[in-house]
Amino acid sequence: MRIMKAVFSLFFLCLILPLSAQEKISFPGNLKYDPFYAVQMTDSDGSQYTLHNASCINPEGEIKYFAWFRRGTDKGLAEYPLDLYKVLSFELTGNYEVYPDGYTPCRVTLSSGTSFDGFLDTTGYMGGVDEEFGTYVRIYLQYNGIKSISFLHDGTYLRCPFCGALFYNQTLADCPFDKTPLIPQNP
Ligand SMILES: [Zn+2]
Repeated sequence: MRIMKAVFSLFFLCLILPLSAQEKISFPGNLKYDPFYAVQMTDSDGSQYTLHNASCINPEGEIKYFAWFRRGTDKGLAEYPLDLYKVLSFELTGNYEVYPDGYTPCRVTLSSGTSFDGFLDTTGYMGGVDEEFGTYVRIYLQYNGIKSISFLHDGTYLRCPFCGALFYNQTLADCPFDKTPLIPQNP
């Protein structure tokens, strides 16, 4: 009987532990991070696309708010997971490499104003809501021969005073969740 009790309490401990661990993984206070990026992309034909709620998506289909950027050689001496909120633009300056290597010569301009030449991981695609079609779109960097990606923010961000969400999309005036006017931060 005592052994049964021990087994049962162990069983309950196994049930409870993952739950309490999950609860601990949350943002402090009511801070939310909603990187509602707006980007403008130009393809090899010169066609322009404006996407809202945009993100980088790798070939495995995972959404990322950073892009891999290499300096040195295309094999990479220094490799950065570059946060999108620090990027003003990527200008693809050379020929696209063949997948799966997929690092393409690129000049990045950061929100600090500094530019660097290097190589951008172009194996995935950018996804977001195309404002002209009013629907989600995937734009494959390699296949479409994307020439430039401009992020429509200036390094500052907006905060919703009601729900605490942060937005990097400078074209937003109101919180898309609760319609509260957003307040510029770090201007
Ligand atoms: Zn809000």
